[in-house]
Amino acid sequence: MLVKFLIVGLFNTFIGLAIIYLAMYFLHFDEVAANATGYGVGVLLGFVLNKRWTFKNGNLLTTTFLRYILVIAVGYTTNLETVLFFANRLNFDSYLAQAFGILPYTLITYFGSKYYAFRDKKKHANSQGYDEAEPESLTEDNNTLIKGGNIDLNIVIPCYNEQDVLFETASRLESLLDEITEEGLISPKSQVYFVDDGSRDRTWSIIEEMTVTKPFVRGIKLSRNQGHQNALIAGLFSATGEAIISIDADLQDDLGAIRKMLLKYLHGCEIVYGVRRSRSVDTFFKRFTARGYYALLHLMGVDVVIDHADYRLMSRRAIEILKDFTEVNLFLRGIIPQMGLKSSVVYYDRGERFAGESKYPLNKMLELALQGITSFSAVPLRAITSLGLFLSLGSFGVTLWVIWSRFISDAAIPGWASTVLPIYFIGGIQLLCLGVIAEYIAKIYLETKRRPRFVIEKII
Ligand code: UDP
Ligand code: MG
Repeated sequence: MLVKFLIVGLFNTFIGLAIIYLAMYFLHFDEVAANATGYGVGVLLGFVLNKRWTFKNGNLLTTTFLRYILVIAVGYTTNLETVLFFANRLNFDSYLAQAFGILPYTLITYFGSKYYAFRDKKKHANSQGYDEAEPESLTEDNNTLIKGGNIDLNIVIPCYNEQDVLFETASRLESLLDEITEEGLISPKSQVYFVDDGSRDRTWSIIEEMTVTKPFVRGIKLSRNQGHQNALIAGLFSATGEAIISIDADLQDDLGAIRKMLLKYLHGCEIVYGVRRSRSVDTFFKRFTARGYYALLHLMGVDVVIDHADYRLMSRRAIEILKDFTEVNLFLRGIIPQMGLKSSVVYYDRGERFAGESKYPLNKMLELALQGITSFSAVPLRAITSLGLFLSLGSFGVTLWVIWSRFISDAAIPGWASTVLPIYFIGGIQLLCLGVIAEYIAKIYLETKRRPRFVIEKII
């Protein structure tokens, strides 16, 4: 690892120097700009190579990158200080001093990268503590099999303007259901609930038609478009089966995972999350924002399963508990892990939509993202307090400095302190007061949700 790290270091130093040279002599940048460009490219290159090649590790991209920058900054500062120390205090030759400076730099950046920037933590849902073993069939592992099969399964599908996909979806589901009924996994009275979320196309008439031609289809029609989450909840709460799976209408999510989810359910899991194995079909933008969003949620203390959308199995019991969360702004992905039931994950590959277009334009996505933060976290409110504290302490520090410059040195400008300082100081105090109010608002906000205070696992 160290050797790879050193090779990367030499390589990007070389590239960085080459860029500085190019920038100065061919593009006629001035010295500072050229150095900044060269160094910047060197750091980026070092980051990519170290992440991909040396350590092959790292948390969410943005977090890892910020950590790496921090490590580099500490290393660089130490390097500079060491060089100055050897050159000025000990009067070493400047090249020799540079050589001494490299040593702490290398050590700090190496160990910093290894144990801080690229350490592996919670990289995927599996390291979030969910068990991954996938039972293959009904008969295998009988000693831990808790239920015997023949599950009364309900599948819930929110549909918004999905006329192009419904028939196909229903027929694929039909063959899947036939297959696993045959196997004895689910009972023949299992059903699929299509929830029409106020579509403006033929979605509802197709659903109506299917309820006649296909015995396993049921339809729920919402009065108007209420959004994906609400349509989902409407379906989940109307379904009566003992296990309920939610899935999107466009079948981007691999249907094969349903069987795996059921097997996990039979082995005693109350919730099984479908987790995407990779995000390779996503655009770069989607991937990048998703990663950033997970990092942000994590920072705010919201616990979600990474790369899991709303494709999941829930037991009857889980649904009943979910009903106790009476808040109107229900962010399912955040609530469900909070219930603390025995959970597991199933990995699947996500394909393209086979017809129609995405019903999640950027603004709906942003809305959902904001919902995820504001319905779980009071951190933004608390940040006000920190900001206020920071400002008032800062202005206090500046006051000390002003007093010092007034009495000790003679650099004081008349009138400056009495104008500028109160602005910061009062600003800080105001923010602090807002922070106190925010603290109470946070309490009110948490209280109004009337969430259950506990979920009982068992009483004996
Ligand atoms: N959906 C819904 N109401 C809405 C938007 C979407 O019920 O207001 C449904 C949609 O019909 C689909 C699911 O939510 O079954 C996911 O939408 P989509 O596949 O368009 O999202 P994407 O896969 O692009 O994220
Ligand atoms: Mg989709």
